[in-house]
Amino acid sequence: MPLRIAARNPGLSRGLIATLCGLLIAANLLIWQALINAEKQQTMSRLQLETQALALQLEARFDSQASSLRRLAHRWAYHHDDYTQWLLDVERLLNDVDNYQAIEWLDANYRMQWVEPLAGNEAVVDFEYPLDHPNYPFLERVRESGQPELSDSFELQQGGPGLAYYVPVYREIDGEKHFDGFLLAIFRVEVLLEDLLRDLAEERLSLVFFDQHRELFSRQRSDALALDWAVESQVMLGGNRGFVLRSQPTRQLLQETTTSLPAMILVAGLLASISLCLVLWLALLSAQRSSELKQSNQSLQREVVRRQATEERMQQQSARLKLILDLTDHSHDALFIIGLDPQELIYMNRACWQTLGYSQRELGGILAISPEDIMPDYQAWSELLQQQVDSQGNAIYQQHARHRNGDLIPMEISVSYMQRYGRDHLICVGRNNSVQLALTNRLQALSNQDGLTGLYNRRYFDQTLQSEWRRMRRSNEPLGLLMLDVDHFKPFNDRLGHQAGDVALQQLAQALSDNLLREGDCACRYGGEEFAVILPGADLTQCERVASHLHQAVRELQISHPQAGIEFLTISIGAASLAPSADNSPHQLIQMADRMLYQAKSSGRNRTCSADQPAD
Ligand code: GH3
Ligand code: MG
Ligand code: MG
Repeated sequence: MPLRIAARNPGLSRGLIATLCGLLIAANLLIWQALINAEKQQTMSRLQLETQALALQLEARFDSQASSLRRLAHRWAYHHDDYTQWLLDVERLLNDVDNYQAIEWLDANYRMQWVEPLAGNEAVVDFEYPLDHPNYPFLERVRESGQPELSDSFELQQGGPGLAYYVPVYREIDGEKHFDGFLLAIFRVEVLLEDLLRDLAEERLSLVFFDQHRELFSRQRSDALALDWAVESQVMLGGNRGFVLRSQPTRQLLQETTTSLPAMILVAGLLASISLCLVLWLALLSAQRSSELKQSNQSLQREVVRRQATEERMQQQSARLKLILDLTDHSHDALFIIGLDPQELIYMNRACWQTLGYSQRELGGILAISPEDIMPDYQAWSELLQQQVDSQGNAIYQQHARHRNGDLIPMEISVSYMQRYGRDHLICVGRNNSVQLALTNRLQALSNQDGLTGLYNRRYFDQTLQSEWRRMRRSNEPLGLLMLDVDHFKPFNDRLGHQAGDVALQQLAQALSDNLLREGDCACRYGGEEFAVILPGADLTQCERVASHLHQAVRELQISHPQAGIEFLTISIGAASLAPSADNSPHQLIQMADRMLYQAKSSGRNRTCSADQPAD
C-alpha cells in the first residue's frame, strides 16, 4: 500500500529516499565520530594515567636521590668540622649517583665554602649569593621552613640551566639549633631528567618537562600526535610543585589503544544505509514499473475492448454490407456504381451481367476496354452523365444494352449523383423495361387507334399530317393526301342495320391497310364513314395511283349494297398533293382533298378527283 502511494508520487518518494539516505549516512558519520571520540577519550585517559604514573616515578626516583643528600645533611652535626670525613661521604654519594653536577656547602651567609667535585665547577668557588640572585628568596624561605626543597631552574654559574636541591643544615650548640648553611646538590637539568627518565621513558610517548611553563627538557618522538592529544601532570620534585610533565601519544600508542571498530561500524553502517536506500529505491522502481505496467495493461485492456467493439461493429457492418450485396445481387434491377475522375466502374451486382448473358469477369473486361460493345450509344450517354455530374442532380435515361446474343435490351437507368470521400459517384439502377415499353407503345397505339376499324384515329391523323408536313418541308418533297367517303352508306346502314354497317367499315379499313405498300403511308379513320390516307413524298400522280388501287381493292370486296341500282359498296376519293412551304399549310391540303372529294361525289361517285393546286 505505501509502495503504491509512493509509486503515485515518484518525485516526492525519490526525494524522501535521498533524504533518508543522507540522514542515515550523517547518522553513521556521527556514530563513527562518537566512537572515535570515545576511543580518543579512552586513549587520553590512559595517557593521563600513564603520565601520572610517570610523574610519580619521577618523583620517587628524585626522592631516592634527594634522600641521600638529606641523609648526608643529618650527619652534618658530626662531620661539619671534619672536611676529610665529609669528602669521603660526598665522594661516596657522587659515586653512587652520577647525575650530580656538584655537591656544595653554602654557609649561613650564603657564601660557597666548598664544592665537589671541583673539576667543572670552578666558577662557583667563593661564590656568594647576591641579594638579587633569583634563588635568594628561595634560600630565605627554605631556611625559614627548615624543609629541603628543589629550586626552580636557573642559570648555573657553571653555565647552562640547572636545578639546586637545598637542604638546610643545623647544629645543636648549647641546646640551641644553629643554622650552618645549606648542603646543596646542583643538577644540570638535562642530565637530571635524562637520568630520571632513563628506563621510564616510554617509546610510545613524546615528553616535555616544564618549569613554570618554561620548557626545560623534551624527548620528542617524530610520530607524536598533535598538541590537542597532550596531557599534563604535575610533578613534585624535591618538594617543589612547580614542575609539569606533558606527554603526547605517538601513533604507535594510538594504534594500541584504538581499534578498527569505528571504521568497521562506519563501513558496515554505510553499507547497510546504502543497501537500505538501494532496496527502497529498487522497491520504488519496481512499484513504479508495476504501476506503469498496470496502467499500460489497463489501457491495453481498454484498447482490446475498443478493438473488440470496433471489430464487432465492423463485423455487423460487414454482415450488413454482405446482406446488402446479397440482396442487391438477388435484385432484378441492375445496380452499378460509377466513380469519376477517373471514370471507372466501382461496383455492379449480379443482375448486371446476368441480364446481359455474361459472367461478371467478362462484362467487367468488356466495359473496361470498349463499353460501346455493351451500350452502343455509350459515348453520348457518357456526355449526358458528365452534364448530370456538373449539375449534381438526378436523372432517368432510356438506354439500350446489347445482350451477349446480340439483342438490344431497352433499359431504363435511374442515375443519382453522390459525392463521397471527396469523389463524385453516380449510382445507377437499370431495369429491362421492354415490357413496359411495349405496354406504353401499346397504349400509345391504342390512344391513336380507332376502336372499330383498327386504323389510326382522327387525333393521330392530325398529329401525323402536321409532323409529315414538316418532314416533307425539310426534305423538300410533296405530301399527298386522299380523303375517302363511302358512297350511299346511309341507306346501307338503314337497310342492313348499323352492325352490318360497322362490319362493312371494318372490311373497307382492312382493304385500305392492305393496299398501302410504302413505309410511312398511313390510313386513318377521319370520322363516321370517311377515311384519310397520308402519302408522304407522293405527288398527285402517285396519289391517283394509290387511289386507283384502293378503288380496286374495295371493288374486290364486293360488299353488296341493298339499294336498288347499286350493286356493291363503293367509295369516292378526293386526292391532293402539295409541296409544303411557308406559303401553304396542312389545312390547305385537307381543303383541297375535301374539295376534290366533294367533286367526286357530285360527279357521280365511285371515282377519284384530284388537285395539286389550292383553290383560289
Ligand atoms: P353519300 O354517297 O353522299 O356519301 O351518301 P351517304 O348516304 O353516305 O350520306 P352521308 O355520308 O351523309 O351518310 C353517312 C352515313 O353513314 C350516316 C350514318 O348512318 C352512317 N354512318 C356514319 N358512321 C357510321 C358508323 O360508325 N357505323 C355505321 N354503321 N354507320 C355509320
Ligand atoms: Mg359521309
Ligand atoms: Mg357517304
